[in-house]
Parts: sequence; C-alpha cells; structure tokens
Amino acid sequence: MSDASAATSPAIIPPDATPMMAQYLEIKQAHPDCLLFYRMGDFYEMFFEDAVNAARTLDIALTKARPASWARTIPMCGVPVHSHESYLQRLIRQGFRVAICEQMEDPAEAKKRGSKSVVKRGVIRIVTPGTLTRTALLDSRAPTGWPAVAEAAGGLGLAWLELSTGELVVQPVERAGLGAALGRLDPQEVLVSEKLCQSPRPLRAVGRMEVPPDRAADSALRQRERAAAVAHPLRRRHAGRLRPVFPCRGGAAGALVAYVELTQKGRVPRLSPPRRLGPGAVMEIDAATRRNLELTRTLTGDRRGSLLATIDRTVTGAGARLLAAQLSAPLTNPAAIAKRPGHGCVRAERGAAARRPAARRCAAAPDLERALSRLTLGRGGPRDLAAVRDGLAQASAIRLLLNGHPGGPLPDGLGAVAKGLGEHSELVQQLTQALAPELPLLARDGGFIARDYSYALDELVTLRDESRRLIAGLQVKYAGIAGVPALKIKHNNVLGYHIEVTATHADKLMSEKGREVFMHRQTMANAVRFGTVELSDLERRISEAADKALAVELELFNDLVEEVTSRAEAIAQAAHALAALDVAASLAELAAERRYRRPVVDGSLAFSIKGGRHPVVEAVLDAGNAGPFVANDCDLASDNRLWLLTGPNMAGKSTFLRQNALIAVLAQMGSFVPAESAHIGVVDRLYSRVGAADDLARGRSTFMVEMVETAAILNQSGDRALVILDEIGRGTATFDGLSIAWACVEHLHDVNRCRALFATHYHELTMLAGKLPGLSCHTMRIKEWQGDVVFLHEVTAGAADRSYGIHVAKLAGLPGAVVGRAEEVLTILESGDQNAAIHRLAEDLPLFSAALKRPPPAPAASPAAPPEPSRVEEALKSIDPDSLTPRQALDELYRLRGLLS
Ligand code: ATP
Repeated sequence: MSDASAATSPAIIPPDATPMMAQYLEIKQAHPDCLLFYRMGDFYEMFFEDAVNAARTLDIALTKARPASWARTIPMCGVPVHSHESYLQRLIRQGFRVAICEQMEDPAEAKKRGSKSVVKRGVIRIVTPGTLTRTALLDSRAPTGWPAVAEAAGGLGLAWLELSTGELVVQPVERAGLGAALGRLDPQEVLVSEKLCQSPRPLRAVGRMEVPPDRAADSALRQRERAAAVAHPLRRRHAGRLRPVFPCRGGAAGALVAYVELTQKGRVPRLSPPRRLGPGAVMEIDAATRRNLELTRTLTGDRRGSLLATIDRTVTGAGARLLAAQLSAPLTNPAAIAKRPGHGCVRAERGAAARRPAARRCAAAPDLERALSRLTLGRGGPRDLAAVRDGLAQASAIRLLLNGHPGGPLPDGLGAVAKGLGEHSELVQQLTQALAPELPLLARDGGFIARDYSYALDELVTLRDESRRLIAGLQVKYAGIAGVPALKIKHNNVLGYHIEVTATHADKLMSEKGREVFMHRQTMANAVRFGTVELSDLERRISEAADKALAVELELFNDLVEEVTSRAEAIAQAAHALAALDVAASLAELAAERRYRRPVVDGSLAFSIKGGRHPVVEAVLDAGNAGPFVANDCDLASDNRLWLLTGPNMAGKSTFLRQNALIAVLAQMGSFVPAESAHIGVVDRLYSRVGAADDLARGRSTFMVEMVETAAILNQSGDRALVILDEIGRGTATFDGLSIAWACVEHLHDVNRCRALFATHYHELTMLAGKLPGLSCHTMRIKEWQGDVVFLHEVTAGAADRSYGIHVAKLAGLPGAVVGRAEEVLTILESGDQNAAIHRLAEDLPLFSAALKRPPPAPAASPAAPPEPSRVEEALKSIDPDSLTPRQALDELYRLRGLLS
C-alpha cells in the first residue's frame, strides 16, 4: 500500500489490526476532527493522516510503522512528552485541534492481564486556541477563550467565556451588530449554533469567519445530534479542516459550557456567575474601524505602535489583559464608565500620585487568575499553589497599604477594588508552611512539600534519604573489598543501582573471592557492571520509600488544591482586584507622564475637545525628538456637527481625524485623554473609514471594500454615532468619486445627523457649507516660504484651495522631469475649461517633447533630459583638429575663448 493511500485512517477497524492499533483507531474515530496525540511511553505518537499533517506542519521526520502482523506500513511521527508543549502550540497556531490521549494505567497493570493486553488509554482533553491554559502556551498579556452565537428570542445571543479566568459574559446583539461584537472579542474560534450555520446571512455577519465546508458530509458527526459548529477566522490557514463538534441545547452560554465539558472531558473550570451586558452597553466598533484606528494592533498586525501598546503601563499579565479588554469595549453608560478602574481611580493629582507606588507593588504578584484556573481544571502544579500563595499575600499587603496610606480617602472605584482584595491570611499561612522553597513544575516529580509539614512524609523522606546515604557507604565498602578505589555505584533506568569499574579492574571483581560478593551484569566497551544482593535489597527499599513518599505528597497536594478551589470565588475576586488596580495605576501613570486630562462624559451630544493630541503620533514624535505635536481643538456642537476638512497632503488631516476618534475611545474605556479638556456626549457607535485596502481573499477590490464600509456607516449611524471619513470616493473616476462623496456628506448631515469629521481633497465639497447648516469647513494651515510649503499642522476654520500634492510628490523623490511636467499639466488644467485643456494636453504628447521646451532643469534632478549644447560646445564640435595647421589651431583657440565672454 502506498503512503498516499495509507495516509487516511481506515473507517472500519480492520480485523487484522493489532490490539494497540485497534485501540488507536477506536479513539481516533471518536475524535475525527482532532490530531490525536497518542501516548506511548515517553512520546506522543501520531499515525496515518495525522502524522502526515503534523510532520509537514512541525517540520519533523515522517517515518513508517508496520504494526505487527500487518502487511502494510503506515505513516507515523512523534513528539517527546517532555517537550510536547512547543509542538502543541505550533499546531494550535496553525488551526489544528489536538486531542491528548494518555495512558490511564501503569503498563505493569496491563501486563498482569496478559502479555497481549494493551495499556488503557483515554483522551483527557482537547486543546483548541480557546482552551489553552498552560502558561507555556499562553500569551500572558492576551485573553483566550471563545464567543458563542445562537439565536435568542428573535435576535441573537452572544456569550463569551474566558477559560483561563472563568469569566462568562452574555449579551443580546442585533444581527447588524454581530460583526462589531465579534470584532471586539477578536476570537481565535467561534461557536455558532447549527441553525445559524444553515442560514448564510447571519454567518456573513460573523465577519471573517469560515464555517467548515464539509460539515454535512461528516457522517460520524451527523450521528450525533449536533447543534453547534466551530468557525475560525479565515486567516487561520487550516481553518477548513475544522468541523462541527458537539451537541448542545440552550443558548450561547449553554453551548459554551457544553463545549468546555467536551474539550476538558468533563472538568468544567470554576465559572463566574454570568455577567449580562445590556444591548448597546458597549460602544460598537466594527472590525474595519478597529483595524483603521489600530486600537490593539497596527495595520501590519503588530502590537507595537498600536494605541494599546502606547497606553499600556501595566506590570502584570492579568492587568494587561484587563486593559486590553477595556480598550476593546468602551462603555456607553457614563455611570458605568466612572466605575471602571480608570476615571474613578485615576486621579493624577497628589493623593493618587502618592498612592501609586503602593498599587505598583502588584508588580510582584504572579498570575493568580490563570494559576487558579489551572488548579480548578485539575491541571495545576506546585508552582500554581505558590502563585496563589504569593498573589494572595501581595493582595493583603496592598490592601493594608491602600487603606492606611495618607493619600486621603479612596475614590469610589478604588475603594471597591481595595475591598475585593480580601483577607486570605489563613490560606497564605497554610500554603507557606506546606510548600518547599524550590518547586517542581509537575506534582508527580515530588519534592515540593516542605519539611515539618507532614510527619508521615518526613519519616518516609528520611528513610529514602537515609538509604541514599547507605549507598554512599556501600560504595566505600565495595571499593575496599574489591581493592578498586575508583569503583562507583551508579544508577540507570535499565539496571537500576549497579557497580561500575573500568575494564582493567573487572578481573578483581570476577576473581573467585570477588564472585562471592559481586554478580556480573553487563560488559561495556570500557566498563564492566556488577550487582550485589545487598544492593538490590537496598534499591527495593529506596524505591518503596520514594514511591510511598510521592504518594503521600500527591495526597497532600490534592488536599491543598481542594483548599484553594473551595475558596475559588474569593481568590478570583482578589485576582480581579489586583488586575483592576494594575490597570488603574497604569492609567494614572500614563496620565501623569503624558499630561492626560480627565474627560467629562455624559448623556449630551457634545463633542468638544480643547487642545487634543494623537496619543500614538505624539509618543512617536517625542521618542524620536522630532518636535512637539501640535494640539488642535474640535467642537462638533449640534449646529456644527459635521466638519469638512480640506488641506494639503501631509498636513495632518488623517492624524486629526483619528485623534478625535481615539480620544472618544479612551474617554469611554475609562482613561484620561490626551487633551487640555474634553466634553464627550456618549458615543454609541464609532466608525472610521480611513485609507483603502484590497480584500482579494474575499474577492473584493479596493473600491468595493471602501463602498461596503461606507454603506455600513450610512446605514447604521444614528445621532449618537461618531463618524470619521477620510477621502471617500478616491478609488474611482474623479467625477464618480466626487459625486459619491457629495451624496455621502448630504446623507450624513440630513439623515444620520451624527457627529462626523470628513476629510477630502475634493475642494468642490466646500460649496455644501452654504447649503447644509450643520456643516462647517475647516482646513490645515500651511505657510508658503521661498517656494516651499511648511506644514503647521494647525486646524483652522476655512477651506483649502489646493492640495500641494505635487509638492509632496517632489519631497517623495519623483523624477524632476515628472514633477516639472505635472506642474505644467496642473497649470493647463486649472486654466479654464477642463475638457479643452485635456485635449490640448493629449495633442502635446509625449511627455518629454513638452519637457524639452522648458528651460533645462538642474542636471542632478533630471538625468533623463540632457541639457542643450552651449555655443562653445557647438563650435568645438565643428572643429576638425587633423586639418588645422598650428597657426589655425591657435586662432581657433582664441575664437573659442572669445565665445565665452
Ligand atoms: P494625506 O492627505 O496625504 O493623507 P494628511 O493630511 O492626512 O495627508 P497625516 O497623514 O495626518 O496627513 O500627517 C502626516 C504627518 O504629519 C504625520 O505622520 C505626522 O508625522 C505629522 N503630523 C500630523 N499632524 C501633526 C500634528 N498635529 N503635530 C505634529 N505633527 C503632525
């Protein structure tokens, strides 16, 4: 059988399959949508198609196996158990789901049932992007988990679960708002109820998600009455291999819990009581706007350079995650905004400044949230217990500091945070007494319980260690008996404890006298190994003591884990409080460091920013010592709610537009803002259409993308929306574009009646100011100086008459001839009737014949157009030196010299 045909697992378990292969196939058939990590000793092995896919993805060797009695070979590859996590991470990143299948009994147990019996194995969990809990696999600053979408009471229900913290949030969403809600969560995978999967429209709203194509064809799954599918973002390369996964009843939250049960094989982590977000509780920001505003990632996908990276001063992973979640979900209720760890806590005045160092002490706090989650999932280790101990100790210390600090009474938000830190001294004390100073990662490695914590354990450990001392004694004794001072007692997994001497000394141990004590066991190239009855006996005692000690330790470990999980609620609260404190301190530090001010956020429709700045551009300019950022005002009062912004290229229009959108986001996420003052009537939807990008993967051209995004804005914005539109209509013919831009401005003004900033190079649009009372024209100030343009980056009332595009083109290094010709064309085009001008230009082709008529440009700027020859050069050219006498040559020289004067 060829490898290609062997690559697929047989659908029916063949009668000649070995017992082990039959077991493998049975487990694999129960998990057809996962790569199966099948535990065999120190390796996780993969077979058939799984092996082919994993070997290709991980770039590891693909080998062949021939299970006993099979005539054919099958593809196989494996990863070592001790380093499997990095492989697992790579597979998950590539969109695979992995079922971890462990040996459920000691191989010795299996042997007792007969030499052919197979070790019992079972899948202990399924790893997907949303189900990662191990520190090594998680980005400590990024959230993990999934949203689920299901139909609910005529609309849609969205639920979101963060597995590593147990936070469960539910929210009703309109169909039109689903894309924005998912954009906020930026998920790696989404659970979609099967009913929704069958109707394409809501799924389209899921955005850049893909539902597995061959869902219906999967018979194994059809048998299960399944009600949910996993959809993955398109950007995941292997998204297509994912399939519907599990049956669920109830709404989105029920689907999530069922999915957790399925992937965690019944071990549901601690879940917080579901938190309900009302409809419209969060500022709606669709995926395109998030991308354009570079909230958490730049357009190139980096965290660096995003708004989040610019404002993040958090010192813990949990704080960073909370900050990112807050930034992704600005609120719309002023009272709720004030309660967030932000406005309520960030007081850049003296009191808070004095208190901040206390809050920053949470720097030392470990990731309490994730440690707790691992422990409740039964996947924790001794270091997680230590993390709980240290985190809680830190929480108590900070609470005392906050309450006792002379910084004045705590502001509302901070008071609640301090309360949440709680009192945990009893548990901290118990864990402190129980845990040894050096801790292994896994409980099964033992040695993590401190001396004096358990009498029974101490006894066993003493016996074990005593035995080890005895071994050292035996070595001295045997060296004496054999007369070989270099004799060593060593240990390996095959022989256990044994005596080793170099080959030259082996005779002494094999002599008649030697044989009374030493038994030959193995001869190597340079060494010979022996055993003794006494040594075997000691080994058995050591091993029994070690086994017993480990068993006691594991029992103590389970007791401690139970102790922790029984207090999970209070610990989770403390963890959240620590994160909230970190966020509050981070925002306070940011505000103090970068001169941010507390905004007024209320129920009005105001949008009045005085001295506003772009947080990211300002930080970049500061970092590069590239001069100060020029602050600008923006007041979108109701009779002035639509600003039409014209001005030269590179003058700062896009920066101004974005900075106002970012100020709204920062204000409503709970942060202070980069402005002298800000009064913002709550923004319920934020739209930003800036620049253009092809979406070729989905078959949409630049212009189509632009229009789809514009349509969403015009169809959905109400008077609470804030809309940022930059250069609408630039991707098509001039008049089409101008007409579209014109109609959009009218629609925004008359129908949407939202607050909007509209930047354009269509200066014709400024004519609308006379017609639309809520529209006012603004422009970017520049100075023309000695033929150059100086950008002042100041926004002022009025309209620009030119874009200075050619000036920018020259700055960008376009060839001199092109710049010169462009200036000429512009002059002609601006000189009256455009049609006639274009005809005149067309007759004047080609480009360089026109260019040649102009005075010669500087040679450096125009290597393509050679200068006209001078009179001296012409005269020189006409001379034939060979035909001249010396006298004539001298005369010619005088003539040439004369031509110069
Ligand atoms: P175009 O019309 O070509 O897209 P633009 O008018 O939108 O240009 P921006 O991209 O906003 O111009 O700004 C160009 C550069 O000017 C920015 O990258 C930034 O470095 C600088 N800049 C913009 N605004 C300011 C400001 N207020 N203060 C200081 N520098 C600024």
